[in-house]
Amino acid sequence: MNAHVRPRILQSFAADAFAPQTFKVYTPRDLDRIEQIARLPEDMRFAMQVVATVLPFRVNQYVIDELIDWDHVPDDPMFQLTFPQQGMLESRHFDLIADLIRGQASPELMQEAVAQVRADLNPHPAGQLELNMPMDAQGNRLEGIQHKYRETVLFFPSQGQTCHAYCTFCFRWAQFVGDKALRIASSESAALLNYLRQHPEVTDLLVTGGDPMVMKTKHLAAYLEPLLAPEFDHVQTLRIGTKALSFWPHRFLGGEDAEDLLRLLERLQQGGKHVALMAHFNHWRELETPAVREAIRRLRDTGVQIRCQGPLIAHINDDPQIWSRMWNTQVHLGLVPYYMFVERDTGSRNYFEVPLVKAWEIYRQAVQQVSGLGRTARGPSMSASPGKVEIQGVTQVAGEDVFVLRFIQARNPEWVQQPFFARFDPEATWFDQLRPAFGAEKFFFEA
Ligand SMILES: *Cc1c(COP(=O)(O)O)cnc(C)c1O
Ligand code: SF4
Repeated sequence: MNAHVRPRILQSFAADAFAPQTFKVYTPRDLDRIEQIARLPEDMRFAMQVVATVLPFRVNQYVIDELIDWDHVPDDPMFQLTFPQQGMLESRHFDLIADLIRGQASPELMQEAVAQVRADLNPHPAGQLELNMPMDAQGNRLEGIQHKYRETVLFFPSQGQTCHAYCTFCFRWAQFVGDKALRIASSESAALLNYLRQHPEVTDLLVTGGDPMVMKTKHLAAYLEPLLAPEFDHVQTLRIGTKALSFWPHRFLGGEDAEDLLRLLERLQQGGKHVALMAHFNHWRELETPAVREAIRRLRDTGVQIRCQGPLIAHINDDPQIWSRMWNTQVHLGLVPYYMFVERDTGSRNYFEVPLVKAWEIYRQAVQQVSGLGRTARGPSMSASPGKVEIQGVTQVAGEDVFVLRFIQARNPEWVQQPFFARFDPEATWFDQLRPAFGAEKFFFEA
């Protein structure tokens, strides 16, 4: 398709509104240097410091100035999305670290306590580290490659294993806190290409992180451009997971590297690949700034498709109005709603989790308020070890209350789209808490 004949649905802004911006980032050490934070009460700032000692924290000036509504802190969803809150740690963990900070504990003591708390937080949910990591012919693990579903390979480029800001609920938090043993990454374009060459069943490559859009364009190009060669014709779709539209839309606006990136995406697209940006959004607010709107416009002009996904999170978006407005906005901007995820069982799960029954009600109520084009979002979906399990609903069968479930994606393709039932449990928040309905011992896929 010729990009230039597509009608522009978004207003254009004066070019200088999007002159190159400097990326200004804050880490735990800089908390007090954030003006808006310095004005908050002392006990709140101390609590933030405690939590940021255990969990990753990183925010930037764009998020601070354009996403967070400081008049509504601490309840503001964008504040909850990026800034540590006391409730994110269980009180026994919180008190342990707080006492060490107050007592000015030695760095060794502190490190030991922090490591212990982190180990308690299920740093690698669903066996991410052990499972799905393929071996080469010599039996070596291929670092940074995951192949769980036949047609889709996940690739974790080493330069893309960070983000422009960190989500407080991040299920990949473990790799951001500096524990190298927990990091999944590859710096090897050759290993990726070899693997894809040997696996003609792979149609989709999903480049993920972290956020691959933190990478310099030339690094991204080194991984992706070789795929235009005829031997990789079976790899039809290149997906790039990103939260840059939300956390740093200037990645697509300012300066030469942004322009190079847009041209790279265009070349891949024109070279015959379907290029999809898998954009992570949690709230419609992230789609309202002039910068994100201009970034979306420029990206769509390259011919790439933008699909949207994000988890359902207490304190941030556990409200059907937020989802229906977000999906409506996405459709209006030409984006495609794709997934609503259930938050994984890791990190600060107690703070963020939403019972499965409530997740389904939120999904249902939200979907009722959007047109068919907004109903392309599947969910609520749990990425569990056998596959992606969707909660289709709660109903009664033969007098028993049950969850109706199905695999959207599964380790074994045969399992996909077979409805199955779990005993209704109003408190369950994750797949491993569900038991088969009707007195069965096992789910069908556990046989
Ligand atoms: C979600 C997911 C994919 C992509 O699945 P699609 O159904 O193709 O979107 C691939 N690998 C893993 C491990 C995933 O969780
Ligand atoms: S953008 Fe994704 S990987 Fe990055 S912090 Fe948020 S959830 Fe984690």
